[in-house]
Amino acid sequence: MAQLIDGKAIAAEIRAELRKEVEDFVAAGNRAPQLTAILVGEDPASQTYVSNKMKAAAEIGINSVTKRISADTKEQELLDLIHQLNKEDTVDGILVQLPLPPHMHERVVCNAVACEKDVDGFNEINVGRMCLDMKSMIPCTPLGVQELIKRSNIETFGKNAVVVGRSKNVGMPMAMLLSSDGKNETSAMDATVTVCHRYTPRSELEKYCKLADIIVTATGIPSLIKSNMVKEGACVIDVGITRITDENGKSKLVGDVDFNEVKKVAGHITPVPGGVGPMTVAMLMKNTITAAKNLAEAKKSH
Ligand code: ADP
Repeated sequence: MAQLIDGKAIAAEIRAELRKEVEDFVAAGNRAPQLTAILVGEDPASQTYVSNKMKAAAEIGINSVTKRISADTKEQELLDLIHQLNKEDTVDGILVQLPLPPHMHERVVCNAVACEKDVDGFNEINVGRMCLDMKSMIPCTPLGVQELIKRSNIETFGKNAVVVGRSKNVGMPMAMLLSSDGKNETSAMDATVTVCHRYTPRSELEKYCKLADIIVTATGIPSLIKSNMVKEGACVIDVGITRITDENGKSKLVGDVDFNEVKKVAGHITPVPGGVGPMTVAMLMKNTITAAKNLAEAKKSH
């Protein structure tokens, strides 16, 4: 029976460490780190995500502000707001909650956030730096998965990993972190990585997964990963979150993994919810503190 990787507990541990880090930073004469979230429109899921992030920030001692703008705002107005926050001395982290309304260009908006305040790591310069193994802001979900793997003492060096899904915010950066050189600035994981996606034939997906010591799946397809695809003792990290109605008509959240069956063969497994989700929020806090420290340092050396 697999050991459960309790993301909720590990994230709580990290938040406690970060709270102490903020206390020390403030005790050293700095103002508290500050995070500004921009929420465009009224999407209920986005509202919940942002309010969870802001709650976590407050608990750690990070000042947070949510700027709400309506869904019919012109893209230029959003860009103006971002540029103003980029210049604002009292703002350390900026996050624009995705998805954006259809008339806005996600790439243009993500690129408008100053690299040093880009706590989501979505600016293309940060993405490029991450791919080059250079110090950068790393997207919170893959960073959270890396932290879960490290804190659970899962060996990745020279191991086989499969990433299922190649999205730009999760699958792609996850594959980079798993395969990158641990000696370089991203402190990555040195695994041999295969990326599977929607055009990977089912039989190939099964074959590659079966060879993997580590599977990270991020597709949003419930029960995509079955127990016959998992090697005995493998570590299975489930990034998928899908809301379904179960056989009793109750609404619930499920991942990409057939959890009840896969846990019988895996060595380690994350639950959904309570696995990767809380780690994403904890890593956003970590990135905000890093941004605040870097900006304070830069100010001192001027
Ligand atoms: P996220 O941003 O959360 O990673 P997306 O919905 O943007 O999620 O991406 C879903 C990913 O899942 C895509 O990269 C897609 O290719 C992949 N995917 C979809 N169906 C399958 C499948 N049957 N097998 C493997 N990967 C799949």
